[in-house]
Amino acid sequence: MAKVILDNLCKEYPLGRGQVKRAVDEVSLSIGDREFVVFVGPSGSGKSTILRMIAGLEDASCGTIAIDGRQVNRVPPKKRGIAMVFQNAALYPHRTVYENMTFGLEYQKCSKERMDQLVHEAARSLGIENVLHLKPNALTRGQLQCAAVGRAIVHKPKVFLFDEPLSNLDASMRVGMRTEISKLHARLSATMIYVTHDQVEAMTMGDRIAVMNEGKLMQVADPLTIYNHPENMFVGGFIGSPPMNFIHGTVEPDSGSLYFIEKNTLGIPIRLRLPEILAGKAAARLGKPLVLGIRCEDVSDLLVIANPHPDYIVEARLEVSEPLGSLTFLYLDTGGHSLIARAVGAVRYEINTDLKVYFNLDKAHLFDAKTERILK
Ligand code: ADP
Ligand code: MG
Repeated sequence: MAKVILDNLCKEYPLGRGQVKRAVDEVSLSIGDREFVVFVGPSGSGKSTILRMIAGLEDASCGTIAIDGRQVNRVPPKKRGIAMVFQNAALYPHRTVYENMTFGLEYQKCSKERMDQLVHEAARSLGIENVLHLKPNALTRGQLQCAAVGRAIVHKPKVFLFDEPLSNLDASMRVGMRTEISKLHARLSATMIYVTHDQVEAMTMGDRIAVMNEGKLMQVADPLTIYNHPENMFVGGFIGSPPMNFIHGTVEPDSGSLYFIEKNTLGIPIRLRLPEILAGKAAARLGKPLVLGIRCEDVSDLLVIANPHPDYIVEARLEVSEPLGSLTFLYLDTGGHSLIARAVGAVRYEINTDLKVYFNLDKAHLFDAKTERILK
């Protein structure tokens, strides 16, 4: 049972003059046996540092790491039962792919036949059987990463650790490798911890996503929960492309209903009547600075909405139209805020005209402007 348990894990780097940088800040997470967990966050958010602490390449400043029921803080990397794949394949240049994949297995007293079988099995599944006799400099970037993954596979670790293994590949190859790693996870049914800054990789690969920012864990949940129910503005803004629209304002009562009123010093503020559920959440925060969050697919051209409710309509200036074929992004300006709406199909829009859009407020969220946490 290769569970990995991080308990209150921290990493501090000295900056000199008694100052420290907290790269990882009290991260606690229990990763299940055979689970695929993706750590995602912007560059510098502490993802690699967490992985390197699990691997034993860095000491934890505080907190504990347990793998398979055993605390490993003082266990050397080789004895932790992990294999790590890095962004650059990190193969020995003077050894062949075969030798790179088997390096280290000799010490585990693996017979030549068994070793051969393991290498060929892994190479076949990754499509690199034909390059086993070559040295790394004869390989494409994609083949190099496959060889690095192959090396991890033959070592039969309890836990696979991946640190942005696809970042150096071009876009089409990234998509292919993404599915290969997902298939690998299904086939090996091993515990995998995967680090990326790419939210598409996180959404498509992870059983659960752990979103990081500035060393802190912002939310851990399955991809759809992360997308549909972000706990805070950071998660709403980081996951999803384009990011969630955020509109600052306040909630005010008017003739028996609650309205979200946009903070807009330049033009007429947007005014949206809140549906019952949102109104219930906002009732205790009347007049306080709040933020309405809504995804672009929930802001639509009014013309395509059947029976639009008059209280959910916003008029804004269309500044840019971005047709992508299957859909078109519409960049709007309300005077107070920029907004992105989404139209289905490649629709032609005239820019610098006013466009009426419809807010599907049943899918909107309200956040506290100060703490940036969602109102519950
Ligand atoms: P990520 O992988 O999310 O991009 P890292 O874990 O590499 O982030 O780094 C987190 C933070 O710790 C960054 O601000 C980085 O500059 C800092 N950091 C990482 N390694 C060191 C180090 N050896 N010395 C000092 N600071 C470091
Ligand atoms: Mg990193």
